[in-house]
Amino acid sequence: MTKTSYPSRRVLVAGGAGFLGSHLTDRLVERGYQVIIADNLSTGRLENIAHHLVSGRVQFIRHDVTDPITVEVDDIYNLACPASPPHYQADPLQTALTSSLGAMHLLALAKSCGARLFHASTSEIYGDPDIHPQPESYWGNVNPVGPRSCYDEGKRFAETLLMDARRHHGVDVRIVRIFNTYGPRMRPDDGRVITNFLMQALAGDALTIYGNGGQTRSFCYVDDLIAGFLCMMDLEVAPDTPVNVGNPNEITVRELAERVIAMAQSRSAIVEKPLPTDDPRRRCPDITLARTLLGWQPRVSLDEGLARTLASLRKETAAASRFEPERRVA
Ligand code: NAD
Ligand code: UDP
Repeated sequence: MTKTSYPSRRVLVAGGAGFLGSHLTDRLVERGYQVIIADNLSTGRLENIAHHLVSGRVQFIRHDVTDPITVEVDDIYNLACPASPPHYQADPLQTALTSSLGAMHLLALAKSCGARLFHASTSEIYGDPDIHPQPESYWGNVNPVGPRSCYDEGKRFAETLLMDARRHHGVDVRIVRIFNTYGPRMRPDDGRVITNFLMQALAGDALTIYGNGGQTRSFCYVDDLIAGFLCMMDLEVAPDTPVNVGNPNEITVRELAERVIAMAQSRSAIVEKPLPTDDPRRRCPDITLARTLLGWQPRVSLDEGLARTLASLRKETAAASRFEPERRVA
């Protein structure tokens, strides 16, 4: 299909003012789709979508998905949920409700409109995995009562709900399990490792490694991830299983810190801080299914992605410091 030949579609993006949702919205608008964003702005920012609000190509509704929503759409993307551990742990009850009740309300909408429902699940459903790398067939190793559970179990419940709705009510459900993703438009105060390290390197502060830095993650650049979302949604028939989407290039947190310091040409030191409770020791997606089913694989290297993210954070912090004196006067 060529870039200009997409049939017109009305699309709801719940969580569209956030990091991933705003990049997704860019791609949907490029296709000529009509996009409605529903977001409670708890972690999202209007500036992420300001360019579309000015052009009038996107409608914004301030809405919390824990309340029901009624709009007429062809496709629904459910990205509404804080993703950074400090953010989702700040109000765990709200996180659990957003993941569960929010998914239920968007499911009800999909059922009433006959819409396709895309759901952003997470590698966190594998918890601290005993199987490595993690294929979709792995059931996970999750603490049901720890500080991460509001997110992990909320997302697991949403998968259960949506797969049952597919089996029993024929709802067209498409679930992706997203592995750690980074890129421009992450908030500088996001609290996840890549933004923390890049911001610390920019400021010349010590990079904070939690634990000894031997734990691993596998980082995917945002453009690659969103391309995977669209492949999933473009499938004629929804797969009968969630699909991992992520970059299998695994790295320790310590190696990541060293890579960031070298790339930012920073003189920052590295300090160790306590390891958070239940922090997964390793994480890497098995993307065999994404490769075969979606014909998708990531393309952007970690060095390239980090450089783009650093440039964007540098611009954002420079702009913020230019405006700072005016704010103080006001
Ligand atoms: P984000 O925090 O930048 O975006 C989440 C968006 O959802 C924000 O705009 C926020 O305001 C909105 N939101 C939160 N609760 C809401 C509610 N109750 N009602 C309406 N809007 C609400 O996070 P992100 O990184 O863009 O993540 C988006 C989705 O992808 C989330 O569902 C997250 O669980 C999933 N995910 C992300 C990653 C990642 O690495 N970025 C990894 C796994 C899963
Ligand atoms: N981490 C770290 N320093 C930081 C922030 C995070 O060492 O300043 C570690 C964290 O303990 C975890 C990994 O980096 O092992 C990834 O954390 P993040 O919060 O980005 O995402 P998670 O995969 O844990 O959801």
